[in-house]
Amino acid sequence: MEEHLRCQMQEIGPPCQIPPTVLNMILAPDTEREKEGVVYSHSSINGCHRRTVLSKDHDYFLDVGAEYKKVRGTIFHNGISSEPAPPGTLGVVRELRMSAPINTKFGTVDFKGKPDEVVLLRMEEYIQVDGTLPVKHRLHVKITDIKTTGEIGHDLIAADKTHVEQVNSYAWLVKRFLPAWISKQAALWAGGWEVEGKDLEHLYLNRGVVLPQIDEVVVDELSIVYIAMDKPRTFTSLGFLEAKGKMKGEMRDGHWRRDVPNAWETLELEPVHEFGTKFVESLIRKGIESQIESGTLLAPPLVGDKARLMCGSCPVRQQCCSIGKQEGYDMTEQRCIDEQE
Ligand code: SF4
Repeated sequence: MEEHLRCQMQEIGPPCQIPPTVLNMILAPDTEREKEGVVYSHSSINGCHRRTVLSKDHDYFLDVGAEYKKVRGTIFHNGISSEPAPPGTLGVVRELRMSAPINTKFGTVDFKGKPDEVVLLRMEEYIQVDGTLPVKHRLHVKITDIKTTGEIGHDLIAADKTHVEQVNSYAWLVKRFLPAWISKQAALWAGGWEVEGKDLEHLYLNRGVVLPQIDEVVVDELSIVYIAMDKPRTFTSLGFLEAKGKMKGEMRDGHWRRDVPNAWETLELEPVHEFGTKFVESLIRKGIESQIESGTLLAPPLVGDKARLMCGSCPVRQQCCSIGKQEGYDMTEQRCIDEQE
């Protein structure tokens, strides 16, 4: 009888209504990062260091419903990870884990990141100013970061600050990592420098493209694209973009009537801010150093926007609250359970 009930449970799925395949992804969200040895990344340095430490030291329950949104993004990214290169470009690098060393006060560590899409726009040849050969190759690229979201409102007229920092950290990585990686991939595949119309792992080239050895990568554009079920919205470092706002209309005879033909207000979308290299590097360095410090000294509770975004679904919120109160912190922003009741 018991066995019969268990079989029935498997047929109808778990009570949370999340399909078992997706549930597995929620329960082991870091499998891939662990396999690829990711310790320092944009998400690790921008997450809550206090949570990382508390979740190692305490048992907790995971709210699978709250974690679902994160996995939704992973599923979307997996879906487009092997799409061919956009037409009119040389090729594209998709979902490649990149790594570059960075100095910190604790020594040199590897910072890692996985840009969704690096489009290879064009190649430029140059020689040293003194005219010495050989001819070198500079590859121009565009980096796009895609964010899935529940809905895109008329108030989304600028990319989120954290997402702007993230795409800038990818630009820092791409410039350091990509020249050697592309050159190596091309050589491995062709036994020379020729790769024509072939798909390498993570690298998709358009037909007729022949890659030389790359000496330098220049990032021409940063783009952040929000994707909801009904529409996308794009922000770019190249300048302002426009999107459809509210539908235009007027009140007539006590009823709101849309304009005929249909017309919409215009939303002006702010450009993605491109950070200077030194500034990005200092952000990454500072983030890594505070992540390392949190291993020996419990980090303080989050405040402001970060607290608003992360504390509500934090699985160790209860532990954070009771320890925080003993430490003498103001825990208002954590909305501790006993204060909610
Ligand atoms: S409740 Fe907020 S501050 Fe506390 S550990 Fe969780 S995310 Fe961090």
